[in-house]
Amino acid sequence: MKKLLCMLLALLLLAGCAYPRSRPADAGNEPMLPGISMDERPAHPGRKSPEPTHPTEAPTEPPTEAPTEAPTEPTTEPPTEAPTEPPTEAPTEAPTEAPTEPAPVPTTEAPGPSYSDVSFTQHYTLYFGQSKLDTELVCVGNRPYVNASIVEPALSLFNLPAVSENNLRWPMYTKPDGLYLSLIDEALRCGLFPVFFDAEKSVHLYRLSGRTWEAFPAKSNAVPAYLRLEDLTADNGLSGRFTHENLSKLRLLAEYLHGHGTAVYLAWIPLYVNPGARVTNDISKDWSYYNTDFVFTLDWMLALGGQLGLHGLTHQSGNEISADGTEFGSAHSYTDAQLLERFAAAEAIAGALGYTPKFFEFPHEAVTAQQAEVAERHFSAIYQQCPFSRVPGNIERRDSGSHSCLWVPTPADYVYHADDFNGILERLTMCYETGKLMSFFFHPILDAPAQSIVIEGEDLRLQYDEQAGILPRLLKQLDAWGYRLAAFS
Ligand SMILES: [Zn+2]
Repeated sequence: MKKLLCMLLALLLLAGCAYPRSRPADAGNEPMLPGISMDERPAHPGRKSPEPTHPTEAPTEPPTEAPTEAPTEPTTEPPTEAPTEPPTEAPTEAPTEAPTEPAPVPTTEAPGPSYSDVSFTQHYTLYFGQSKLDTELVCVGNRPYVNASIVEPALSLFNLPAVSENNLRWPMYTKPDGLYLSLIDEALRCGLFPVFFDAEKSVHLYRLSGRTWEAFPAKSNAVPAYLRLEDLTADNGLSGRFTHENLSKLRLLAEYLHGHGTAVYLAWIPLYVNPGARVTNDISKDWSYYNTDFVFTLDWMLALGGQLGLHGLTHQSGNEISADGTEFGSAHSYTDAQLLERFAAAEAIAGALGYTPKFFEFPHEAVTAQQAEVAERHFSAIYQQCPFSRVPGNIERRDSGSHSCLWVPTPADYVYHADDFNGILERLTMCYETGKLMSFFFHPILDAPAQSIVIEGEDLRLQYDEQAGILPRLLKQLDAWGYRLAAFS
């Protein structure tokens, strides 16, 4: 039976399968994928048999219980303007197309299990590695890419439409050993939910078989409400907030929010600094297994309505840890030029990953008048209360010359801790009753205990306990009042 399947696979691959073999006119020479040298790679990916052992409940990493207290976010803030997450923001490199010959039929050669060892009904496992070690999960512009020519047949996904660059968020690369797509494009194309297993440095691609919640039905006359997920940062799991397990749950959360509104704002700290642990993590430069998961998670959230913003550069100073400390405000003086440098450093990290930030937010919303003025002349949206407001609580647009900046406040503040449901409900009720902007922010770790990722055979189901989770209950109330999560614009 396996032989028959192998022959079938070989025929499909020879026929070009679902992948276009056309080559752009300008595809003269064949640039290398950044981060990997095609020459150094084995002629054929040494395929490993799927690991049959995985927990019923996703990621093997320790559950890291959510702190009951959300990180403290002082309040004082302004607003911003809207994003339209560009579906395709090209990494710096141009897509490269390869030789036009058909993809070679995988051969069986030592070392490594033969291709025929792959069970066609299994989920597929990718192994993280550098260029010489593996060809399955590779780095392009610090973004994870996978060989779709291997993954799709291995998952028996033969009837997918041809890959079209128009439907991709990131460039594709055709190489002699197959077609490479970004992990996010491949996941969206095939309906997969990747799970990162730290212990074996692998990524299991599961078919996403279901969710435990119903999406809200469409509502055309909804009043916009704004939600910002706070303090997202690649902390290597050090804080317990962004372990691999919790990154999976962030993706689950994005799925949930996507079914309950059109947009969610992501306050991302681009450079994670933890002086005590001697860690400075720049995900645009360091290709590590952890960062692979983090970049993929950002990609995933942006694909599902996420609007990425810069929450400072490091959200700390001196010996403070990112997300704990402040960076601006009266305790930190900067010249205008120094401020602009700091903004540029944050933007450079986003830009290196192909992201265009949609807003800025000062860490802990701490800002002086000078800092606010420099920022509003630079950014088109600042997501906190405008310090120059005469009547706080609503969106304000401020012009300086030809530049215009939207300040978007969060009058309902945020969910202070895991037991603050009644508190946030009261503040949202105040917004509803007084006509202030329906806007608040939330630290995603607070709902992690209500979320789980359940693997059932070869499928994976996302569970969000809507009775226990804070956000599901809040969104239900907002919906009852006629609000839906949206982007400001
Ligand atoms: Zn913060």
